Amino acid sequence: MTNTFATTRLTILLPAGRLPLEIMAKVNELAHNYRFELYLSTMQNLRLMGIRPEDLEAIKADLAAVGAQFKGPGKFPIPRVCIGRRDCTMGVGDPEALSRLILQKFAGRPQTKAKFKIAISGCTLACSGVLTTDIGLMATRQGYDIYVGGKGGPHPRTGRRIVRGADEARVLAVIEELVEFHHAHTEKKQRMAKLVDHPDFPYKEAV
Ligand code: SF4
Repeated sequence: MTNTFATTRLTILLPAGRLPLEIMAKVNELAHNYRFELYLSTMQNLRLMGIRPEDLEAIKADLAAVGAQFKGPGKFPIPRVCIGRRDCTMGVGDPEALSRLILQKFAGRPQTKAKFKIAISGCTLACSGVLTTDIGLMATRQGYDIYVGGKGGPHPRTGRRIVRGADEARVLAVIEELVEFHHAHTEKKQRMAKLVDHPDFPYKEAV
């Protein structure tokens, strides 16, 4: 089916699903001025839809001026998170804090290949989908369990647990190893599910 309306879209990245007030106010103002629609994406970003192509650059410039960052090729994926221990009685971990550490370490990584995703949960109930995400970080009372190779879609798959009880430094080191392995074994884009059975994959199942 073709898009007969010939509009375009723009996605504002929202680390840990947090929407800064300055960006919220500017989006509100621009949505009234340019009459576009707002959508909260499944990856917790804010998508502006139904933008007239001739308005796009002006909208981007106004949003960039208040600190907005935009989705684009080669950017390191922002983790999807749950609210964690501060705001959930079940929580034992702080996904927002771990997300910040991950982005501090990897946000400047040049040309990260698509298309793996990361999710973090504050407990084993896994509300943010850590078991069905390429790299899933699940807080437990002993530290983070790390899962790899989960995916949704028409052929869903549960991730394989490769590390148990990791502290934050270990989590970052494991992610780095996984991302480099993905980079080295990926042409353009690939889910982690395709790599977990590779003979050189660096981790076995952690039981
Ligand atoms: S995964 Fe756990 S901590 Fe996070 S929202 Fe769900 S129940 Fe709460």
